[in-house]
Amino acid sequence: MDQSIWIDKLKEKGLKATQQRLAILEVLVEENFPLSAQNIFSKLRRNNPNLRLSTVYRTLNSFVEKKIVRKLDLIDKESFFELLSGEHHHHLICMKCGEIIPIDCPLKDYEEELIDNTDYTIIDHRLKIYGICPRCR
Ligand SMILES: [Zn+2]
Ligand SMILES: [Zn+2]
Repeated sequence: MDQSIWIDKLKEKGLKATQQRLAILEVLVEENFPLSAQNIFSKLRRNNPNLRLSTVYRTLNSFVEKKIVRKLDLIDKESFFELLSGEHHHHLICMKCGEIIPIDCPLKDYEEELIDNTDYTIIDHRLKIYGICPRCR
C-alpha cells in the first residue's frame, strides 16, 4: 500500500493519520473485500498485541462518517466494512514476487445467471487469481 496517498486522504477528511488508522486502512486495501471489525482486529492483533476491538470499531465508524469506508449490514449480528474508493475489481497475484495486478471483474454475467437460477440476492463475491509473472518465470 502506498501510505502517502492514504495520509493525504485522511488529512483531506480532517483525520490525523495515526498508525492505527493506517494499519486498518492497509488491511482493507490488501484484502479488497468487505471485512468485519472482528476480521480486521484478528489480522492486526498479531503485530499489535495492545490493540482493542473497540478501537477498531471506533476507527471504522469514523471512516464511515468521513465516507472513506462503507458499512454493509449483511447479517444481523455483524457489519462488514469496505473501502469506498475504486471500482469493483479483482487481483492477479504473482506467487513469487507478490506483484498484484488489478483485473476487471469477469463474473457479472455469471452473477445474473445465478440470480435467475437460485433467486438469491447476490451481495458480493471474491476472486483472486494466483500465478507466476513473466519476470519471475
Ligand atoms: Zn513475480
Ligand atoms: Zn467481481
